[in-house]
Amino acid sequence: MRRDTALIVVDVQRDFCAGGPLAVADGDAVVPLINALARHYATVVITQDWHPADHASFASQHPGRAAFETIDWAGATQILWPDHCVMASAGAALHPGLEIPHAALILRKGLNRMIDSYSAFLEADRTTRTGLDGYLAARGIAAVDLCGLATDYCVAWSAQDARRFGFGARVIEPACRAIDRDGSLAAAWAAMTAAGVARSGLV
Ligand SMILES: [Zn+2]
Repeated sequence: MRRDTALIVVDVQRDFCAGGPLAVADGDAVVPLINALARHYATVVITQDWHPADHASFASQHPGRAAFETIDWAGATQILWPDHCVMASAGAALHPGLEIPHAALILRKGLNRMIDSYSAFLEADRTTRTGLDGYLAARGIAAVDLCGLATDYCVAWSAQDARRFGFGARVIEPACRAIDRDGSLAAAWAAMTAAGVARSGLV
């Protein structure tokens, strides 16, 4: 049982799995791997993307724009997403196959209509903290292992922010799947490697 390393299970939700509006290819395949992995960690954090229905990252909020187009948003490039993970909707629910009864914290992110939040630690304004860094530190956690969806967005941003807050970070690659549009996966790995994030097979 790992006690000084937490497992962060990122956004394994219906809307990101088969049949969802933002389905990640083969996303469902991570579920049994994550269930097995989680048994080795005393501290497991599950994240949930959790947006108001009129969230500004949704293409539907930008007349004339289509999903996966990019816009300039507060000085940064923002991808417009299909509507997904609307708070308390069926699609925002965790994947029904996820079995991690000892997970003590379910962390919801993306609640502010005007800020996206890929990372479990910091919203996309890079300033607003979710409080996860304090939670982990208070429990004596020194490092995090990450798995879930999607490798190139919410996993990558969370892993880099873990490093920013002084935690070791390792992405368990077989237990992740990527969106991988326009080279996003390679770019994410380059950024993660530069930030000191390790990549690992199943542990
Ligand atoms: Zn989202």
